[in-house]
Formats: sequence, structure tokens, C-alpha cells
Amino acid sequence: MGHMTVAEGSGLPGKAAQASWLELDAAAVRKNAAMFRELMSAEGRRPTLGTVLKGNAYGHGFAPMLELVHPEYDCIFAIDPYDALAVRELERRAGKPAKQVVVTGAVGGEEAVELARHGIDIVLADLSWSGIAEQLRSAKPGRRARVHVFVDTGLGREGFAADEVPAVVELLRKNADVLEPVGAMSHFANTEDVTEQSYAQWQLDNFERGVATLKAGFPEAMLQRHFAASAATLVLPPSRFEAVRVGIGTYGLWPSSETRLSSRVSLGRPVTLTPVLSWRCKSQLVKWLPAGSSVGYGCTYRCEQRTRVAVLPMGYFDGYPRLASGRAHVLVKGQRCQVLGRVSMNHLVIDVTRIPESPEPVTATLIGHDGNANVTAEMLADWAQTISYEIVTRIGSHLRRTVVGR
Ligand SMILES: *Cc1c(COP(=O)(O)O)cnc(C)c1O
Repeated sequence: MGHMTVAEGSGLPGKAAQASWLELDAAAVRKNAAMFRELMSAEGRRPTLGTVLKGNAYGHGFAPMLELVHPEYDCIFAIDPYDALAVRELERRAGKPAKQVVVTGAVGGEEAVELARHGIDIVLADLSWSGIAEQLRSAKPGRRARVHVFVDTGLGREGFAADEVPAVVELLRKNADVLEPVGAMSHFANTEDVTEQSYAQWQLDNFERGVATLKAGFPEAMLQRHFAASAATLVLPPSRFEAVRVGIGTYGLWPSSETRLSSRVSLGRPVTLTPVLSWRCKSQLVKWLPAGSSVGYGCTYRCEQRTRVAVLPMGYFDGYPRLASGRAHVLVKGQRCQVLGRVSMNHLVIDVTRIPESPEPVTATLIGHDGNANVTAEMLADWAQTISYEIVTRIGSHLRRTVVGR
């Protein structure tokens, strides 16, 4: 994270002119949060609106995204305990109110102590916790650790099967002096891959069983149940419970085209997500190549005619997928420009023959709007045979992020 700065000003490259940069649209962050909030209040209930900042905030950049989402969401979910502590640090520095923060990833004993001290919730997902309880007891963080129990309802990843919950109740009771049960969570396996939700329904039934056991063990506790990520929040209202964990939707991206489709049916109207991120790059040089020239490693592209190319100082090192070679286009002055030949580690060559000649470098948009044209993370994902989650998460943490639209 050390290289990341939120530059003030224009969003144009400063001293690192030889690099691509990201623009984060603050207005889009607000719009997406407002959309989810409106969606959920429509039913009269007001579940806690949570956002997910894992994976360097889905590649958008943890520090700038934290500042943008903090005022908009009720709760912040992180995987990394140090990201969660950074939330408290921001709140302290900026005099902001403390939000609910939950670490869903694995934590060690010392981390659990630090998190408890800062009032950050942790998730119990396996039974290796007797050591952690012991450490909490001897470190005396001043309050009990707030614990959510992860029920594995059919994802086959972290968490307890519903019939293992009695053992969890026992562990929590035995360590009631240091552990405070505050929630129960689970995670769906395929809400975004399908338009019918029978597997999700089965997961919900398993969750009910696990939660019932937990509630029976702690009849006095107010358990916050949370299950839904972006897709289920959009297409499966019964899964919203007391809180939702909106990840990809925070950034204005759809979990999948299936989710986009089924949300229209389940909500009875289309809803809009506004992409937060644009990825741009200034050319390192522009030149004419004679007809017959080839471009890039493997000589996979051959110019049929005299071709003007722009060489962009970015490549797969920066997270632009090499698999998009031969398929992708970028935008220059609102026009599509084909990516020529293979994507290199640090260079991308594009065809700018149709762009009016100028002594200035060209500015290419790899993801985002330029004029009336648009390249989405989803398009880039299709070209690279992956999903938008992977495209944005793999954008290098070394790139400059600037915030626009404040
Ligand atoms: C990543 C993640 C989410 C968010 O998922 P999206 O599909 O990005 O909304 C929610 N909950 C858990 C446990 C996750 O790991």
C-alpha cells in the first residue's frame, strides 16, 4: 500500500507520467450505496448496509476506497485484520464515528486481542479457537471479543456445518468471559451463476437450522444474521436478514449477467449500478509502421496497411490480462482502438490510425467511458475469459489512484 496516494487535482499524470492510473468516481460510490439502501428500505425493513473492502478494495485501492465508502455504509467487512484496524485509524484521524467493522478472514491470537481492543468483530469459522480465547484472557483487552459464527451451509469452504453448531455453543459458553456471540453468517455458493435459486434456498434452510441451535444456546443474545453478498441482496430478498455484505456492487459492477437478468424479475424493475473505476494511460510514443510490419512478441499481428500505433507504458505487470491479446480494444478520443498483437509485461500497442494526428501523446481508456464509448470491466473479463472480479482485483496496487467526482 505504500505507493498508493490519492492525488489532488486533475487526475492527469504528474511525475509518474510514464504510467497508467486509476480514477475513482466518488459520485458513483454514493450512487451505488444509495441504490442498495433504497432497495432494502422499500420493504419497510432496514437491514444494516455493509460493504466489503477485501482484495485491496477489489483492486480499486484500499485507502481511497475506505474514505469514499465510510460515510455511505453502516458496516465494513474486511478479510485482513490490518485493513480493519486501518478503519479505526481513519476514524480516529478524521474524527469520524466508529462504524461496525467485521473481519471475516482467519485471525491469530494476537490479532484477536488487538481487534477486541478496537471493538472490531471477528468470525469464528473453525474449532482451533481455544488458544485464542486463552490469549484474550491473559491480554485483557478491556472488552470481550465480538464473535460471529460462520455456518457452512453448502459452499464447502470455511465455517461449521449446522450439526457442528452445538460444539460451537459449548466453546462460546466455556469462554463467555472473553467471547461475546453477536452474529451468525453464511455465504452462498452460486446465487450469481443461475437464474433459479433452489440451491440458495437449500442453503437458507441449513442456515435456519444452525441459527436455531445457536439461539437456543444463547437465548438472551441479539444475533445479527448476515448471508447475502451483492447477488443475493439483489435477487433474494429473504436472504437480507439483519445485514448484507455488498462487495462487487459497491464498485458498480454486476456479479454476473445472470444476476442482472434475474434482478429485473425479482425487483420488478431494472436497477442501475455505476462503475466507480476508470483506468487510463498516456502513450509513451506514437509512430507509423509500414505495411507488412508485425507487432509484438510472436509476431501475432501483421499490419496490412501503413498503421499508426501508440505504445502504452503498461502491460500484464499492471494487471492488464495477457489473455485479452488479439481481442481487446481501448478508447482514444471516444473511438475504439484495437489492441495489436500480444500484451507485453510493460507495454501495450494500440492502433490509432483513425485518430487525428497530433504532437501530443494520446490518452487511452482501458476501462471506463470516453465520450459516448465505454469499455467495461465485464468486457475486458470476457476478452480474457474470466470474471470482472478478477480483472479489477488484479489491477496493480502500484498504480496511482485519483479521486474524481467529489
Ligand atoms: C467476497 C465476499 C462477499 C462479497 O461478495 P460480492 O459478490 O462481491 O458482493 C460477501 N461475503 C463474503 C464472505 C465474501 O467473501
